[in-house]
Amino acid sequence: MIVYCATTNPGKLREFRKAGSTRVHIEPLPGLAGIAPLEETGPGFEENAVHKAVYYSGFTPAYLFADDSGLAVEALGGAPGVYSARYAGPNATDEDNNRLLLERMRGVANRRAAFVCVIALARAGELVRTFRGEVKGELLEEPRGSNGFGYDPLFYYPPFRCTFGQAPPDAKQQASHRGQALRQMVAFLGSLSGG
Ligand code: IMP
Repeated sequence: MIVYCATTNPGKLREFRKAGSTRVHIEPLPGLAGIAPLEETGPGFEENAVHKAVYYSGFTPAYLFADDSGLAVEALGGAPGVYSARYAGPNATDEDNNRLLLERMRGVANRRAAFVCVIALARAGELVRTFRGEVKGELLEEPRGSNGFGYDPLFYYPPFRCTFGQAPPDAKQQASHRGQALRQMVAFLGSLSGG
């Protein structure tokens, strides 16, 4: 079975594609670039993921999923949260966002942070189910590593003794919020298709 995803973020797409199984193939929604984008206006990851999945699933008869994810920093009251992609402004790059986060965290002793991912699966404009993953780590005071994307170079994951930006992509996928949510979804879809 093919399940389409609705993302134009190349970092997410790489991780989505890797998560497929022999029964469940994950591909970007054909023609996604030509569809009017949806504003992410919800107060939480779940609302945003559901809103996106329901909207984009209206453009295909196949299953389609969307994720909403981000970094929640304890000392910042959960920020940047749903604003993670545009923390430093609407056209911010990963580097801009990382720089701003380091500035806000200068001198802050509590470095605890978590990545959260909610995946919503939909079909023909109807929500089927949501899946959630979360991983806890600590923010460093400078970036390390160039793997992954987003805040990965600042996110130190104690079990790996390195950042997600330094970890090999397969290792990140095993531990990450997105990997956890994707495995739940792939298992769910696999069970629907008889295995
Ligand atoms: P979304 O497209 O609104 O879900 O934006 C997610 C944003 O959260 C990304 O642009 C990154 O800034 C951040 N983010 C989410 N997942 C990850 C990850 O696995 N590594 C690093 N940053 C992430």
